[in-house]
Amino acid sequence: MISKLAIGIDIGGTRTKLGLVDLEKGEVLEILISPTETKDSAKFLKIINSGIDQLKAVAQKKHSTILGVGFGVTGFVFDDGMVDSTYGFLEFMEDYPLSEYILKYSSLPCRADNDARVVALGEALYGIGKGQNRVLVLTLGTGLGLGFIANGKFETNLPFAHMGGHISIGHTDFKCYCGKEGCLEALVSATGIVDSAKRLGWVEKFPDLPLNVETIFKAEQKGNTIAAKIVSDFVSHLKTGIHNYINLFAPDIIVIGGGVSKGMKPYLEKLSDTEFLKPYKNYQVKIALSELDELSGILGAAALFKQS
Ligand SMILES: [Zn+2]
Repeated sequence: MISKLAIGIDIGGTRTKLGLVDLEKGEVLEILISPTETKDSAKFLKIINSGIDQLKAVAQKKHSTILGVGFGVTGFVFDDGMVDSTYGFLEFMEDYPLSEYILKYSSLPCRADNDARVVALGEALYGIGKGQNRVLVLTLGTGLGLGFIANGKFETNLPFAHMGGHISIGHTDFKCYCGKEGCLEALVSATGIVDSAKRLGWVEKFPDLPLNVETIFKAEQKGNTIAAKIVSDFVSHLKTGIHNYINLFAPDIIVIGGGVSKGMKPYLEKLSDTEFLKPYKNYQVKIALSELDELSGILGAAALFKQS
């Protein structure tokens, strides 16, 4: 049987990952990684198109054809394929006809969607969310992005759900970059955790330790009391957010992915006490960490060609 292949492209803040994906098996057959060009559209397209050419050659060797090219991008993607990443890291991507450019060069159809939504699709179809009806995925990286998949499809009636990191959980001591006070994203993203550490005097107290999430989580495991306070606040804020999301989305499973999730295994139990995840009779939510790691964005972007 000839495999159904698609290219999935995950544009990250620093690295762009292109993968050739077997859509039936959920396997990334070939992966290419290059630095993300954030300023110059022509350079950006050159890197992408060269990657597409290389992956086309791999598919040709396998005597398989590629259904199309899927993208996960920061920002909004409108129904006509126009991308607006004005508030993201891609400076040129305002009212940007990405799909049109890709089709013109590669003669392959192109579909694009928001990166957090695409990651959720990858987790729901090929990751730990597989087999669950209602899958909510929280991507905890530089920010907090949401994606919600019901029965293997995007929930089209929730067009702004990926912005759900900006729900307010009531802390008004500082402002989120979006201009509002108390956003969950500003407390639990990597940026938020680092900001909490700064407020607690991390830099002055530990001038020799790097200021990042990995170091903070490791210090907490070794009994550092400042790190313990940062982690305890992080878990508490994330729990409040998840509690709100459970009431809004009624998910069967909440998958946590992104850079922050890599160090979260020791805290999963604290996030998962039974009462909190059993808000109603006969209803139980599971919380799990992503097992696809960095592949979820590629798989999900390719899987845009499994969506009707
Ligand atoms: Zn905000």
